[in-house]
Amino acid sequence: MKFDPATSLYDSMELGAYNGVNPTINDSATFAFESGEAMVNCFNGEGNGAFLYSRHWNPSGFQLSKALAAMEGTEAAWVTGSGMGAITVAILQVCNAGDHLISSVTTYGGTYAFMKNWLPKYGIEVTFVDITDLNAVKNAIKPNTKMIYTETVTNPMLQVSDIKELSKISKSINAKLVVDNTFTPMIFSPVNLGADIVVYSMTKFVNGKNDTTAGAICSSADFINEMIDLNDGTAMLLGPVLDSMRAANIQKNLYTLHLRMKQHSKNAMFLANKFVELGLKANYPGLESHKQHKLFKQTMNKDYGFGGMISIDLITEENASKFMTLMQNRGVGYLAVSLGYFKTLFSNSGKSTSSEVPEETQKEMGMSDGLVRYSVGLDNDIENTYSVIKGCLLELGLIK
Ligand code: PLP
Repeated sequence: MKFDPATSLYDSMELGAYNGVNPTINDSATFAFESGEAMVNCFNGEGNGAFLYSRHWNPSGFQLSKALAAMEGTEAAWVTGSGMGAITVAILQVCNAGDHLISSVTTYGGTYAFMKNWLPKYGIEVTFVDITDLNAVKNAIKPNTKMIYTETVTNPMLQVSDIKELSKISKSINAKLVVDNTFTPMIFSPVNLGADIVVYSMTKFVNGKNDTTAGAICSSADFINEMIDLNDGTAMLLGPVLDSMRAANIQKNLYTLHLRMKQHSKNAMFLANKFVELGLKANYPGLESHKQHKLFKQTMNKDYGFGGMISIDLITEENASKFMTLMQNRGVGYLAVSLGYFKTLFSNSGKSTSSEVPEETQKEMGMSDGLVRYSVGLDNDIENTYSVIKGCLLELGLIK
């Protein structure tokens, strides 16, 4: 039977303490041992599932991690206080001083800045490539390449990564393929396509409420155990752990993720088609005109659609700014960074979430000054939302 993330997630559900239907919140930073010997054994890695200290494992974080691993089809997972917490830990667990990694040049601005400005300070070299050009990836390989890094659907250019092919390349050089699946939970299961490690900003679709930042790393049990090793595990020693209260809240929201993704996708597909009809330059992987539309269809999990992210190109920053202000005033959504919220959010990527990317590089990757990125909401009446958007475009003379 074909893997279905939502079914796998539901099959993994367990009752909480006292048969509570929701995950039990374990509000403790430290845990008592029944004997001095048991404590010593635990520090020697023979804890038999005992909890030691919340920076290592918290029972609430552990429950959420199990649910995420079920959703991703991985052996294990570990949850962090932000998406950047997950990304930086995963990278620093794999790469040491003197290593090299290859990354998609279009990634979330914070990831790009970490790779461009921070990693070189510690002797880790990064080559940025157009991730859709597999020859460019192969040509960037060096004897010390330890990782290929990409986003399933890249932020904000919405390029689709060919995870199967990238995995063949990474396996051929014994490097790890790390995939940020933040834009496309449920829609893609990167590990089933050959990725070694999947990272998430759960701040976005996974939680879907914009009430907290959070992240996750899903991978093999060996990798997760290495990360939390008491002596040299990056997660254990840098300590970006997720709070137990938040972990329980996010877990509750996880069980509606499949429905939310379907509605985000349905609304985004509707708007993308309408934008094309209006003659706008619209970018959405669900459109046949999208360069990797076929690849998306071949590698996606069926039934969840093409995701909630669309961009349109209004050419100038001024156009984008006036349009976004008017849309907010008319109730289309909020002029805010981030994504995956139930209300539509929009921002001008080059001037906000990708402002860490130098203008020259933005131009090289085809990011226009007037790029408006939408995270399409869960609107029940998307036709009405569209008519308001169209009204804004007409009023500003951006369409005829
Ligand atoms: N990955 C992607 C694709 C993102 O869009 C973001 C944030 O916008 C992050 C990672 C970072 O996540 P966080 O803000 O939760 O640290």
